[in-house]
Amino acid sequence: MTDFTKTRAAFDLPQGITYLDGNSLGPMPAAATRRVARMMAEEWSQMLITGWNKAGWYVQPRKVGDRIARLIGAGAGEVVMGDTLSIKVFQALSAALALRPDRRVILSDSGNFPSDLYVAQGLARAMGATLRVVAPEEVEAAIDDNLAVLMLTEVDYRSGRRHDIAALTARAHAAGALAIWDLAHSAGAVDVDLLGADADFAVGCTYKYLNGGPGAPAFIWTHPRHAEAAEPILQGWMGHAAPFAFDQEYRPAPGIERMRVGTPPVIALTALDAALDVWDGVSMADLRARSVELTEAFISGVEVNCPELRLASPRDPAMRGSQVGFRHPHGYAVMQALIAGGVIGDFRAPDILRFGFAPLYNDLDDVARAVDVLARVLRDGNWDDEVFHQKAAVT
Ligand SMILES: *Cc1c(COP(=O)(O)O)cnc(C)c1O
Repeated sequence: MTDFTKTRAAFDLPQGITYLDGNSLGPMPAAATRRVARMMAEEWSQMLITGWNKAGWYVQPRKVGDRIARLIGAGAGEVVMGDTLSIKVFQALSAALALRPDRRVILSDSGNFPSDLYVAQGLARAMGATLRVVAPEEVEAAIDDNLAVLMLTEVDYRSGRRHDIAALTARAHAAGALAIWDLAHSAGAVDVDLLGADADFAVGCTYKYLNGGPGAPAFIWTHPRHAEAAEPILQGWMGHAAPFAFDQEYRPAPGIERMRVGTPPVIALTALDAALDVWDGVSMADLRARSVELTEAFISGVEVNCPELRLASPRDPAMRGSQVGFRHPHGYAVMQALIAGGVIGDFRAPDILRFGFAPLYNDLDDVARAVDVLARVLRDGNWDDEVFHQKAAVT
């Protein structure tokens, strides 16, 4: 059994705060400070440029990738770190389109995060493709034989609605298309099984449920069957077969290494590596069970105590990730009052109060406190929009 008391103790959480926003920015594991300080003092300061080999900076994107692979049902040597998620979306999508040269339709859904859609729009323009966007529940029916690539985010950033990766990937494959999965709100939150689902590409960020810190690098996974065929359009020297030969011509590195672009963010990767220590000994099945326990307790607590809120997330936990949304017409102001009361969630336009539950550090006491403060805020009516807009203007 995973010891969630131990994982919670690994975080430096501010006193008196109930943090339900780890789906946006995970809190800091105490070990990250020490690890980064040591890296600066012993590696950067003393090794200077030799740190690339001596301290293993050069191979760090793959080594950290291997640690993430375990959390998303991928194999060792299949994941590499670097850049930001938006850039990894670009790489996966451009590589997937190139693998289906006779087809030019990309399908996504309106619940996707805007940046993914923006990247797809730009890429569609450059590669002469068309981006089709349908409602999340219409995705399955929209898959047809013209489709080149199905590109979806598993867990909706607003509602927490969860797509079935295995079922939709199978539908895409049956139509001759490839499937790319964005795991931004899945990695470290739900039990992802990329190999089991037979997905083609996956990408994700590490500053949400993986607690890598603001601006932590993204990851990309390629199914081994595409690893030697995928051709990233964004090709840089660190993804070259022989970066230090300084050839004039690009030749892709073997396997997932070709998805590297330029110099990796070593300091950020060091903080992330320390954050991943917390995952040692965590079973993803236990994580998922704990996440369902927390979100179920929160939903029932809110529905009993705050009848004016409307659930914006699927009621069935099987259809939901590790976050819960509730609608309120004055959602922004309610969330500001909640934050002032020590419970940090966030607001997503137009009217969603969003709460992320991270089993590594959230517990049933957090759920009870959040429900209490939320009920008090709503009862007191202390969420006047005017007041909070004025407040925002002076701070
Ligand atoms: C958080 C998130 C992003 C953010 O991308 P960055 O390039 O890291 O800023 C992109 N896509 C999805 C689905 C997200 O949830």
